[in-house]
Amino acid sequence: MVFRTLHELIAIDTQNPGADYTRIQDYLRTALKSRGARVQIVAGNVLGTWGDKPKLMFNAHMDTVRASGWTSDPLKARVQSERTYGLGACDTKGSIAAILEAVASAHVHRGKKNIDGLANSAVLFSMDEECGSPTGAASFFKTALGKSLARNLKAAVVMEPTQNRVIVRHPGYVQLDLQFKAPSGHSSSHRPSAASQAIDALYAIKRHAAWNVNVAGLSAATVGANIRSPSCLTNISIRSFQSPQRVIAAVKSHLPPNATLSVKQAEGPLDNKKPFVPSRLNVPYWTDGATFAAAGVNAVVYGPGSIGQAHQPDEFVTHASLQKAVLFLEKKMKTVGAFES
Ligand SMILES: [Zn+2]
Repeated sequence: MVFRTLHELIAIDTQNPGADYTRIQDYLRTALKSRGARVQIVAGNVLGTWGDKPKLMFNAHMDTVRASGWTSDPLKARVQSERTYGLGACDTKGSIAAILEAVASAHVHRGKKNIDGLANSAVLFSMDEECGSPTGAASFFKTALGKSLARNLKAAVVMEPTQNRVIVRHPGYVQLDLQFKAPSGHSSSHRPSAASQAIDALYAIKRHAAWNVNVAGLSAATVGANIRSPSCLTNISIRSFQSPQRVIAAVKSHLPPNATLSVKQAEGPLDNKKPFVPSRLNVPYWTDGATFAAAGVNAVVYGPGSIGQAHQPDEFVTHASLQKAVLFLEKKMKTVGAFES
């Protein structure tokens, strides 16, 4: 059934930016209700709960990146060599399908065994993970309901394609626009142009050993090679285990007085020193695991598929990886979410 669910999810277009969540919200509401959940839409996110005070939460995002360069219809699942191809197959509709499969089997077994894994469980299908908006899981935890749930949660599995490995650490993500300005004039003077100031600042920023810096763009108002450029804009992102405040303060220290800095995105790191699943693994990319950590929840990141396939044409998930994820989630419900009678 997990494969059929995945095919149905892939067919629902949630390409972001610009995603329309109506259809997937309806689909997930119906799917969760049929599994005995109480379903609420909270700030656009789909929340399913079993019991009043969930201890365990599974999370996956509903949106995908926009498809480009596919060799087949990205919204039509295709099965080949024990793999399912389709937009979001690994990032993260495969995870949503795994969650629905795990809670379905726990629902079927409710009352038949002494262990009720669903008694203290919740799922959150969040929006806008792929476009860096302050919506999604972050806005969920700002609501009164989100805050009260976070206080009781003992554990959360935030699902991203990790090849079924449990990840407990990753850097934060800070995205900045830096604008440099300088008086224009003849290039024979030794005063630095705006472009030259930008290059000096970027050089200093890139020398921070604890930072992974990406200079995404650099554009200067060029009048002529013999004239100093009056303005220069650069867009950068910095991944680091330092707090965003600390990163931003350090960047500012490298800027000349007339430069301006605007913060486009500022997310903290995930650094779970006491994860509920033993692991020390880290990844270089950012996830909503950090959003859960910021809300005070013991979060790990886990999921089927590989980040190597995510955001790529002909994205796929292997069936072995998907089935392994279902078993992982079922086990967590029995050990963390369980109510034993
Ligand atoms: Zn992604």
